[in-house]
Amino acid sequence: MRHALKNKNDFERVFKLSPGESEAFEQGREIFNIRCTPYYASLAGDFEEEPIRRILMPHRLEMRDGTQQMADPLGEKRNQAAPRLVHRYSDRALFLITDFCSVYCRHCTRKHFTGREQALIRPSEYEEALSYIASHPGVREVILSGGDPLTIADGALERILTDLRAIEHVEIIRVGTRMPVVAPMRVTDELVRILRRHGPVYLMTHFNHPRELTAEAAQALGRLVDGGIPVMNQMVLLNGVNNHAAIVQALSRRLLFLRVKPYYMFQCDPSVGTDHLRTSIDESLEIQKELWGHLSGLAMPTYAVDIPEGGGKTVLTPNFEIARDEHSRRYRGWDGVEASYVNPAPERRRLPADAGVYADEWNEITRSRKY
Ligand SMILES: *Cc1c(COP(=O)(O)O)cnc(C)c1O
Ligand code: SF4
Repeated sequence: MRHALKNKNDFERVFKLSPGESEAFEQGREIFNIRCTPYYASLAGDFEEEPIRRILMPHRLEMRDGTQQMADPLGEKRNQAAPRLVHRYSDRALFLITDFCSVYCRHCTRKHFTGREQALIRPSEYEEALSYIASHPGVREVILSGGDPLTIADGALERILTDLRAIEHVEIIRVGTRMPVVAPMRVTDELVRILRRHGPVYLMTHFNHPRELTAEAAQALGRLVDGGIPVMNQMVLLNGVNNHAAIVQALSRRLLFLRVKPYYMFQCDPSVGTDHLRTSIDESLEIQKELWGHLSGLAMPTYAVDIPEGGGKTVLTPNFEIARDEHSRRYRGWDGVEASYVNPAPERRRLPADAGVYADEWNEITRSRKY
């Protein structure tokens, strides 16, 4: 991180910039900060349209008017329950502990926050966010994000994990990080021990292209999984980067082989300066449909779109239904087989005899929706 490329001079030492890239350094920083690790830069190719280069390199097209340009496509500012705490779903809250990343991906959805480099959260805000979590027993899961939570030092991270673990109702901690992709050497044995000590911690990473899965990245993932940390991947479909079924397949199969579960395949959010990186929803559905039936369910990511303005996630699956009536539904499966599913008679429906035992807890969770 100390050797990060941060300005045009730094990038020119590694890349021969195209006119479109060169121009972007003048104004691009106003749209989104610029930074890249030397390791990640070494994965990029020597021409402008190379996929990894499109992720890390500012481009003139970021400054052009697009069809939809939102500063905060997920409406996160509106949904902040406490400073840097987004509580949008009843049982889990997103905690933005730092705004710093070691690479500023050009497609980032959180440009309203990420990259200001105010770094770690202020102590007073931190206490406020913690006491919100502590006073909301419905929050079973805390998702550490940012920015990249693994850009902070081990000691600071351990203190946050310790504080969260002191809250009895926090069952699951998630850490969303791009470090295994952009700086796999960050995943030290000591880091893995810290995560494990405060488990269950799920690590969510963000590989977008099979070429990001280098030997170093594979070793980092191996250290995590061997150390008892489940790892999941969230990819984003990006125009000119990975918008082809063969690339998604190669990425997903290799992740699965490395014991990483492909979790989400996101539609790129209409964040400012991303028009040249976005696919259409129809194109994304086509890619997903091609994979369906051919890719192991274990390797298949769930395709999701975040509804702009903070509408939350919506999951899209291929539609196999071709007809329905009161009692049955008719489907045509992925390879053309047609058949009907006939429902049992309604009078046979019974609730589980012990539903009441669980219902109180469920009501408590859903009642905690105070946002
Ligand atoms: C995506 C998201 C989550 C996590 O959603 P999952 O479907 O559980 O992965 C939680 N909070 C916010 C605000 C989110 O945007
Ligand atoms: S690592 Fe994540 S938060 Fe940071 S710039 Fe990339 S997409 Fe945005």
